[in-house]
Amino acid sequence: MQNFWPAIFFAIFGAIFGSAAGALIFRLNFDEKIFFDRSRCRSCGRQLRAKNLVPIFSFFFSRGRCAFCGAKIPQFFFIIEIFFAALFFIFAQKFFGQKIFFEKISLAIFAGILLFYDAKFFVVDRRISLPAIFSAAIFAIFRLDFFDFFSAAALGFSFFWLQNFFSRGKWVGDGDADFGAFFGFCVGLKNFFPAIFFAYFFGAIFGIFLIFFRDAGRKTPLPMGAFLMPALIFFIFDGEKFSAIFWKIFGI
Ligand SMILES: [Zn+2]
Repeated sequence: MQNFWPAIFFAIFGAIFGSAAGALIFRLNFDEKIFFDRSRCRSCGRQLRAKNLVPIFSFFFSRGRCAFCGAKIPQFFFIIEIFFAALFFIFAQKFFGQKIFFEKISLAIFAGILLFYDAKFFVVDRRISLPAIFSAAIFAIFRLDFFDFFSAAALGFSFFWLQNFFSRGKWVGDGDADFGAFFGFCVGLKNFFPAIFFAYFFGAIFGIFLIFFRDAGRKTPLPMGAFLMPALIFFIFDGEKFSAIFWKIFGI
């Protein structure tokens, strides 16, 4: 645990970031003002007090309810705070003090926001996906094997665009090609197939879970981003390692 204290610091920052990310996702989705507006209860509309804005802990203090009207605060906000606290901790633990840290954490942040947005609202918001793709492309330009990453982005984009086109949006949504491009820019061609395999593997488990436990049935559209992004975060963290696991499983 060489970077333990920096990682703790980043975990606290991550919880605050997760809180802001949760608010951002809701505000973008409902086309509300993004900045300079304190969070409100979505039932009674009253502004939350400062003590209700402490990430993670306020959920326990308030027992997940609004202090004014008693309406339940969606667990979404609690889960996204925990998620980003853990994400920042794990990435800081491994990469703090290295040049690559900023790149890794930036890509993981975009993947995390896309994940929660899609899981919650089943949409790909271009106001998030385009900056994500653009940033990933900029990072890719500065790599020695940049061609590998641009090819992967093109492949990822086409892979989902074609599925969307031929299924007329039934299996794969309109914005899912954006996920493909972002995915490709992050993992590169070398790790593309192992990463896609893990994504579909997680996706299958998650899909089965939904069908059995949530009575979702087959017709429920499955959020592609919620499948792709968890695997992608693992590959952003250490693509070589997870690729090696993949090749080992298939004995190549
Ligand atoms: Zn309320």
